Amino acid sequence: MSIAAKEAGARQESDVVLRYLRPHVKFPNMWCPGCGNGVVATSLIRAIDKLGLDRDNVVLVSGIGCSSRMPVYLDFQALHTTHGRALAFATGVKFSRPDLKVIVITGDGDSLSIGGNHLIHACRRNIDITTILINNYIYGMTGGQISPTTPPGAHATTTPYGSAEKPFEACDLAKGAGATFIARTTVYHTTQMDRLMMEAIQHKGFSLVEVISNCHTYYGRLNRLGQATALLRMFQEKASVQDKGTNMVDDRTKDMIPTGIIHRDSEKTELCDEYQKLIDSLAKGKPA
Ligand code: SF4
Repeated sequence: MSIAAKEAGARQESDVVLRYLRPHVKFPNMWCPGCGNGVVATSLIRAIDKLGLDRDNVVLVSGIGCSSRMPVYLDFQALHTTHGRALAFATGVKFSRPDLKVIVITGDGDSLSIGGNHLIHACRRNIDITTILINNYIYGMTGGQISPTTPPGAHATTTPYGSAEKPFEACDLAKGAGATFIARTTVYHTTQMDRLMMEAIQHKGFSLVEVISNCHTYYGRLNRLGQATALLRMFQEKASVQDKGTNMVDDRTKDMIPTGIIHRDSEKTELCDEYQKLIDSLAKGKPA
């Protein structure tokens, strides 16, 4: 492809992204330059645009944290709620309006610590919500404390001599709790991220896409890993891309980031459908 054609493609892509921002209301954004949250936001926009969804029927729900600011900047229906509670609010929205596409944007601190209980129960219920879990291994907004995904030995403001804790594997947790679409990618792998987001949004049931992301301001600096580009290079080197379409072997270790679809189950029933069946049977005067 010629340079001119590539430039035209890039211009077209940025025009698409601009159409879904709130530039005159909520910008400049609060993210550090180079933060992975911006990469995830543009990927989500591309995924929704390619799927041709009506933006008035897309609800972004978030809790608290750097990544949770995303619904404020993107021009969809938005609920910016309290710490860890995004999935509780999202469940209410989906239950009352099953026709809406409900997407939760959350971080590792927000969803796996204070919000961990809501996450496991949303997985168990298999409610038709997509959760984009941006995992940068640390609390960014509150000043660089360890989170439930901080690797052992990693430095944070609360672990100046290295963390002694064992981390959660978010995808394992979601699988064990009953989620029916689980995938992992990184902010380096944007083409794959677009595709996984599209598949997750189209999946009927609870879907989780874990995006390994960079917080160079805290995680990178405190662990001497360098700036955003150095962390992106690290993701490129550690990641293995498995595009088998379904149920890959997830041999995640500190030095390996398998990416692709980890688990997909199209058989398990979805909560809103089950609830509707119950309503219909009661309306006919007999229990389901
Ligand atoms: Fe991103 Fe970290 Fe800055 Fe928050 S503190 S905006 S997560 S780089």
